[in-house]
Amino acid sequence: MELWYTEEHTDYAKFSTKVKKHLYSEKSPFQQVDVIDTYEYGKILTLDGLVMVTEKDEFIYHDMITHVAMATNPDIKRVLVIGGGDGGTVRELTRYSTIEKIDMVEIDELVVKASKEFLPITSNKLDDERVTLYFEDGIKFVEDKENQYDLIIVDSTDPIGPGEGLFTREFYRNCFKALTENGILVNQNESPYYERDAKAMIRATGKLKDIFPTVEVYQFHMPTYPSGHWLFGFASKKLHPIKDFDADRWNSLNLKTKYYNTDIHVGAFALPTYVKEMIENG
Ligand code: SAM
Repeated sequence: MELWYTEEHTDYAKFSTKVKKHLYSEKSPFQQVDVIDTYEYGKILTLDGLVMVTEKDEFIYHDMITHVAMATNPDIKRVLVIGGGDGGTVRELTRYSTIEKIDMVEIDELVVKASKEFLPITSNKLDDERVTLYFEDGIKFVEDKENQYDLIIVDSTDPIGPGEGLFTREFYRNCFKALTENGILVNQNESPYYERDAKAMIRATGKLKDIFPTVEVYQFHMPTYPSGHWLFGFASKKLHPIKDFDADRWNSLNLKTKYYNTDIHVGAFALPTYVKEMIENG
């Protein structure tokens, strides 16, 4: 019998892919955690029936969530990752020898456990000596932090369930306080395409703008996320992702990346008209 994984992207649009094997299924106190093996995308981690990571396209997401900020400020030494339990964001960060400390705060230990067992491709640097894992709520974790991180990456689920509080003004205010003078925050900022995701994106961007003086949104192509068109937010105290970006400086590091390059860095901030209008009109 043929087995297919199907995810509802809206009430009227679905994404399906043929399954080789259902490898793992556990319920944590926070969410349903599954790993499936598929013909097209390799292994896929899903949370509450939504694709988080696939072996085939994770490089796009993880390149874009880390290298844009790292290329804007080469002096980033202390990083906080909130969420990101699959380990892909940490893996990319560990490639910079200039980073001294990476704290990762993941609410759900089961996501890390499942990723370590089935997704070594993303989780293989979680044991790097610079990395400290905290299994806590990221919202609480930042409440009492001041001037501690040069970069905060919010690698979160959607604004429902445990991820909801990671899209609030209060959380962004605490992140602002936790950041150093040149601090940057990058967040998973949803998609402009389908109505529900677009509303979440507009709300998140508006709240970031209430707290940070510089807020830009940049895009990337994510084949397995709803519509395939996804956004990250770039919010910072001082630095601008284009004006303060030096392509030669980043290229001289000789990091090999499969999606990110210094042309993509600049191009990703050029948004389609309908997205610009959505953000401008709030
Ligand atoms: N790439 C994914 C996407 O955009 O679909 C996101 C990665 S997934 C690993 C996000 C992680 O955020 C999940 O493992 C989830 O448990 C974690 N998370 C959600 N809410 C959280 C919170 N309040 N504090 C810390 N981690 C949280």
